[in-house]
Order: sequence, then structure tokens, then C-alpha cells
Amino acid sequence: MKIGVLSLQGAYLKHIEILNRLNVDACEVRYKKNLNDIDALIIPGGESTALTKLIESQSLYKDLSEFVDNKPVYGTCAGLILLSKKINGNEKVKSFKKLDISTNRNGWGRQVHSFIKNISIDISAEPFEGIFIRAPKISNCGTNVEVLSSIDNSAVMVKQNKILATTFHPELSNDTRIHKYFVDMVRNEC
Ligand code: GLN
Repeated sequence: MKIGVLSLQGAYLKHIEILNRLNVDACEVRYKKNLNDIDALIIPGGESTALTKLIESQSLYKDLSEFVDNKPVYGTCAGLILLSKKINGNEKVKSFKKLDISTNRNGWGRQVHSFIKNISIDISAEPFEGIFIRAPKISNCGTNVEVLSSIDNSAVMVKQNKILATTFHPELSNDTRIHKYFVDMVRNEC
């Protein structure tokens, strides 16, 4: 099994480190051809407007969109924004519209309102250190979306079939549990 990490911008190296810690073969994805070699993809955090521009300039939109239809994908933060069906009040981001949630970019506030909070996650008995950096806020989830964690009734970790997404950055916590959960999702698909 090999998991690719979209490596155009943002926190992609940390995801590769965590996958390697889990003894999973991981690689950077920059070109269409890289998608042929992988069983699953992580779309990292960063800046969804910049990611949109880079996806367009590399002509990756169509291939990535097809990949999301067929293989497991995990989006963190900006990655979650790019997967959202609806982004409220934003035309600069071209999302793949695959995950049935509505999202507000920077919905928890600006950079100074970034925060760390211990959250409970349905996949584990112990809390998880959630690192929220200019995080998106999910305002609505479709009935087909499983909410795996939330803060004050706002979902922060969701799953819809083969798509997993978090508004926070588990790759920055010294904790492999969420990546392990994704790896298990991929194993079940392969
Ligand atoms: N606020 C960023 C955006 O809109 C996301 C921030 C992040 O990925 N940490 O894309």
C-alpha cells in the first residue's frame, strides 16, 4: 500500500513523516502521473486559495476530482475546504464538491484566534490534541456525513464513505491515531 500526499503547498512533509512512523510507504504528489502509483491521497492544510491556483496551473483538477471519486482521501484544514460541497461566500476556492458539508473559511477567526483544544474523537477513548490554525468551521453536514468529533455542536472531524476530513492538523500533534484510522480505511479498500 502506498499513500500519496498532495505536495503543492502547505504542511505535506509532516504527513509523510507520520505515515512513515506508521510504516506506511508514502510519497509526494505533484503531477498527474503520481496519482497512478498510489492507493489513497492526503490533501494537507495550507491555503486553499493558493492550492486552488496551483491545482489549476498544474492542470490537476480533473484527475484529482476523479481520484476522490474512486479512492480514499483524507483532507486536513485547507484540504477539508477543497473537498467541501459548499464554501460559504467564497469564489476564490474551487473545491471538488465531494464531501457533503458547508464550510466557512477561517470560521473560528483570524490567525490570532488559532487554538489548541483537547477534543474527544469517536474513534478512540482518549482525547486528541486538536491544533486549529485559521481553521474552517463546518456550518452544516448532510445526513450521509458521519460526525466523528465536534466542538460546541460544530463538526471538526467527519467521514463520508471513503472521504475523511478534519478541520484541525493531526500531523502537527505527536499522535498517530487519526492517520492510523485513515490507513485502516485504506487497508479495507485495498
Ligand atoms: N484558512 C486557510 C484556508 O482558507 C486554511 C488554514 C489551514 O489549512 N491551516 O485555506
